[in-house]
Amino acid sequence: MSTDCPFCGIVAGEIPGRIVGENDHAVAFLDANPMAPGHTLVVPREHRERLADATETEVTAVFSLLHELAPEIETTVDADGATVGLNDGSTAGQEVPHTHAHVIPRFDGDGGGSIHVAAGSPADLSDAELDEIADEVTADGGD
Ligand code: 5GP
Ligand code: ZN
Repeated sequence: MSTDCPFCGIVAGEIPGRIVGENDHAVAFLDANPMAPGHTLVVPREHRERLADATETEVTAVFSLLHELAPEIETTVDADGATVGLNDGSTAGQEVPHTHAHVIPRFDGDGGGSIHVAAGSPADLSDAELDEIADEVTADGGD
């Protein structure tokens, strides 16, 4: 636990949180400054700054809660869909250094965009460059 981390405080019950789900290794609670009704965060119980810092067990627990809760949240707020994702690192917009996945309910005509807009404009990469990246990621341990 990190003493100055708000999400550790919520998991520990030391900071008020609107907890909407939990399992052995992950907790879900409503975002305090929601982008939409039902905006929910899912975090590992342990303080892990980045996605890669969490264990496979913790990541599995986080994803299990996302799988369970996303449809329940959509139904609760009568949404038409949801954007599910996480900002991994400050460059990507991560503000709270305890990794967390967002479920943001989406509504027809809400004016938002797809997750692609978070990355700005498309990267202009040739087939050869895509092949090279795929080969390098695989060589670094990807399947
Ligand atoms: P990030 O930009 O790090 O991906 O998103 C952080 C999110 O955490 C924001 O949507 C923000 O509203 C939310 N947040 C920050 N502090 C608190 C807090 O103390 N409690 C809750 N429930 N949400 C918080
Ligand atoms: Zn924390």
